[in-house]
Amino acid sequence: MNTNIQNFQLLNQKWGESQTLGTPGGQVTISFANSNFNGQRANFDHFITDKAFQNDILESLSMWEEISNISFILVNDSNSVDIRFGYAEIDGPTGIVGQTHLPVLGELAAVQIVLDFDENWVVGSEVNSDGLSVKAVNTHEIGHAIGIAHSPLDEALMSAFYNPAVTSLQEDDIAAARAIYGNSNIEKVDVNRFLNPANGGHFFTASLVERNVVLGNSNFEFEGIGFKALSPENLSVEGTSPVFRFYNSDVGSHFFTASLEERESVMSMENFSYEGIGFNAFDSETVSKTPVYRFFNLKTGGHLFTTFEAEREVLAENVDFRYEGIGFYAFDAL
Ligand SMILES: [Zn+2]
Repeated sequence: MNTNIQNFQLLNQKWGESQTLGTPGGQVTISFANSNFNGQRANFDHFITDKAFQNDILESLSMWEEISNISFILVNDSNSVDIRFGYAEIDGPTGIVGQTHLPVLGELAAVQIVLDFDENWVVGSEVNSDGLSVKAVNTHEIGHAIGIAHSPLDEALMSAFYNPAVTSLQEDDIAAARAIYGNSNIEKVDVNRFLNPANGGHFFTASLVERNVVLGNSNFEFEGIGFKALSPENLSVEGTSPVFRFYNSDVGSHFFTASLEERESVMSMENFSYEGIGFNAFDSETVSKTPVYRFFNLKTGGHLFTTFEAEREVLAENVDFRYEGIGFYAFDAL
């Protein structure tokens, strides 16, 4: 295929402060509709309440967010939300599976994605020959909702025809989103998590070299990938901040903070030595990012960071730990 040929088609409508192609889309709010409002573009006949179904839609939004410079924030439904999702009884099974209602001209606003209630929707990644992938259809509809028209390429997810073999963004789709919003510049790196059983402290590193060194150190147990973030060198992603790393020589454990204020106060403590930027993380929660919860171990004086809800619940019940809030936002380990 000659990659110089541009196949994708754009609507010439976008999100963000500027309508100029290649400028950021900013933060776009999304909701699962729970009522109908006067003046909305289309009527919802039913609402999407199933959690697994909702999660697939959030994953569809994440796919666009990870490759182009636009982000989506899940909010409570209201008539001021940017993109709202719901069902309508469109035309019975097959035929039209979803419709995206957009302003006729000009900047994007008050978009509605309406899914046909009577389709055989399939949640998750099971490919089913007689069902429709929630993720694939929503990723396609979200493409329209961010300003992409149908692609003449059969293998593009933005092709007008549903193809069960195409469930994720293809080169042509990615090129379209980047033409409108620019590249997200996101390259996820694994932040590896180690336990020091002697003091109960945890160590995190985004460096493969360091990971391999620590793997050979019998004082540490490798616990897997804690979360995913951005490398210390990746400074070109919007809405991110460096997470600073310190070594606490009193307790033999590491401390991480994204707060400049806290960095300054820890810098002045004698028992802490500054070790540089551990990784870059996000400043706020969007559909593809998750909070990294910070706990202080009252027994050992060390800190633990986790994105795992189950672990957070266990730690919250543990009298040895004090919850200190959300440290920063990152991608989950999966
Ligand atoms: Zn379409």
